Amino acid sequence: MEVAESKSKKAGGRLCSTCNQRKAALKRPKTLEQICRECFYEVFEEEIHQVIVGNQLFKAGERIAIGASGGKDSTVLAFVLSELNRRHNYGLDLFLLSIDEGISGYRDDSLQTVKRNEIQYGLPLKIVSYKDLYGWTMDEIVKVIGLKNNCTFCGVFRRQALDRGASLLKVDKIATGHNADDIAETVLLNILRGDIARLSRCTLITTGEDGPIPRCKPFKYTYEKEIMFTYAYFKRLDYFSTECIYSPNAYRGFAREFIKDLERLRPRAILDIIKSGENFRISTSTKMPEQGTCERCGYISSQKWCKACVLLEGLNRGLPKMGIVRSRGQNNERTKDMKQNKGTKNIESKQCGTLDF
Ligand code: SF4
Repeated sequence: MEVAESKSKKAGGRLCSTCNQRKAALKRPKTLEQICRECFYEVFEEEIHQVIVGNQLFKAGERIAIGASGGKDSTVLAFVLSELNRRHNYGLDLFLLSIDEGISGYRDDSLQTVKRNEIQYGLPLKIVSYKDLYGWTMDEIVKVIGLKNNCTFCGVFRRQALDRGASLLKVDKIATGHNADDIAETVLLNILRGDIARLSRCTLITTGEDGPIPRCKPFKYTYEKEIMFTYAYFKRLDYFSTECIYSPNAYRGFAREFIKDLERLRPRAILDIIKSGENFRISTSTKMPEQGTCERCGYISSQKWCKACVLLEGLNRGLPKMGIVRSRGQNNERTKDMKQNKGTKNIESKQCGTLDF
């Protein structure tokens, strides 16, 4: 140990603040500690294990679908969950579940990454496509509606597609790669949009327990920088990092930049925003949507028809703005919408930062 220490000092490097033996290789984005790679892997994986165990995210024997886009978060999630499942004998059957939105030059490429992950991690892969489920690809939808509301269609369709894929796989739960940055952004966006229903549930680590298939977020407290620039990079994981060709991202982009600025000044800011979100209490006089089922397809819905059926009907009838257009008195209607849960709100996807947890 003394030899390692003196060598490290000679090289001008600091020692790892955790093991105090090896040379520090990085400054942990979450805590700013100087740490060696080996200790970083250990604390990174151990923190996720503690989140899983502490929140009882899984039960032995469960079948779990990992929502896999080929991006950094879901790739690291697939890798880490496989490792932890083996190391701690969780007793889980893990699967990769991907959605093919039909976006050429983007999703076709990222699905190649997921197919390689299937082999690399030995996890069976199921791909469900918008074309098969809805008769439309996103390329076709964008041709009809343009680039203004494309993410609304895509987000609504993806949510259902994941549930439908999960039920084909007969899984008990879906695990998604939403990280701490995503959740902090969503807290802020839901405040900015006055979306009380989503604000009340966006920090929950497991959602949809009253729905067909619950979803959980093992990376709820994991920083994006640690996933992408540190863990995935040092482990040389095979992931896809190109943005969707239809990504507008304007509104979420501002929130994202704001969070990144805060993080630069004070890394704990991300965790504190999540904590604030967790501690919001919704007034009992705020009317929350009542859950039923869509009369058309049977999917969960608080309206007569679910959002996917409304949007699909519009597309099929050549009225693509059906379910999207709001009247000029939008702000007044907005309050009414929130209370009655009418109208289709903008829902963006995880790849582009989901609002729809
Ligand atoms: Fe779909 Fe995301 Fe692309 Fe929008 S940016 S079209 S939600 S994949």
